[in-house]
Amino acid sequence: MKIGFIGLGIMGKPMAKNLIKAGHELTVFDIVEPAVEELEKLGADRARSSKEAASKVDLVITMLPDSPDVEKAALGAEGVFEGIRAGSTYIDMSTISPITTKKVAEAATNKRVRVLDAPVSGGEKGAIDATLTIMVGGSKQVFDECLPVFQAMGKNIVYCGEVGSGQVVKACNQILVAGVLETASEALVLGAKAGVDPEIVLRVIAGGYAMRVLDVRGPLVLKRDFKPGFKTRLHYKDLGIALAAGSEYGAPLPVTSLIHEMMGAMKVLGRGETDHSAVITLLEDLAKVEVKKST
Ligand code: NAD
Repeated sequence: MKIGFIGLGIMGKPMAKNLIKAGHELTVFDIVEPAVEELEKLGADRARSSKEAASKVDLVITMLPDSPDVEKAALGAEGVFEGIRAGSTYIDMSTISPITTKKVAEAATNKRVRVLDAPVSGGEKGAIDATLTIMVGGSKQVFDECLPVFQAMGKNIVYCGEVGSGQVVKACNQILVAGVLETASEALVLGAKAGVDPEIVLRVIAGGYAMRVLDVRGPLVLKRDFKPGFKTRLHYKDLGIALAAGSEYGAPLPVTSLIHEMMGAMKVLGRGETDHSAVITLLEDLAKVEVKKST
């Protein structure tokens, strides 16, 4: 396939290289020169603008830092939509706001261009090894047609729903990654302040229930099964112990403190005897939604 690839940074460069390896013909563009030259040496054509990269190909991919960059590269002067041909496909693989994705998709419809959003996770190593997880939103038919292109860059390729859904799932993923990193940091800092070897703390946490809790409880939450394995009121008690220890040893635990308050609110609402995973019901009440399996 003839592919225009725009944005050859930490992620884009190895992804573009993998597309070349898979036999695709690439035209590349980046505002920074050296990455373009590197790809040129591997057989890619060089474009002088996003417009030019889009004008010679059937499929355009962007891998740019943020929403304003995508908006500029797609909709701006000398941008993708000034060059792209009707009937072509545009895939944005950057992590951006789903609102921007929808704005770009609307402009694409007017040009009779098909759009997918396909953010990734897996980091630089995943991009180099072509093992990225790719979360795709847009038409299922276009997704099916583009699958071989995705398979040249990733392993776990998931169709998520209408355009923008890939970005929504990516945002959900980032909440969890950040939450795990932050709360693990609180645990390690408390352990260190209390004089416990951090390697031991890490070994116990990494081999324990904390790392499996989503696998075990996620499917039960979707079935609305909150029969206690571990009661909310007991987890509230445990977080109280952690907070008291943090106070004693001088280790502030900001996120733990917030979760402790939420578990406390569960008790006030008469939900202390439910499984601790029922903490989701508090957020559901705030958002007026029920998270359950679609039939
Ligand atoms: P990066 O900053 O290394 O690369 C971005 C590239 O885009 C740069 O080479 C830059 O010169 C180029 N660029 C910026 N504006 C441009 C424009 N208007 N036209 C052409 N080129 C332009 O960023 P990255 O780490 O490769 O990340 C790209 C996207 O992937 C981001 O949305 C990021 O959040 C996401 N992401 C990154 C990682 C990671 O581990 N690095 C993992 C998953 C997802």
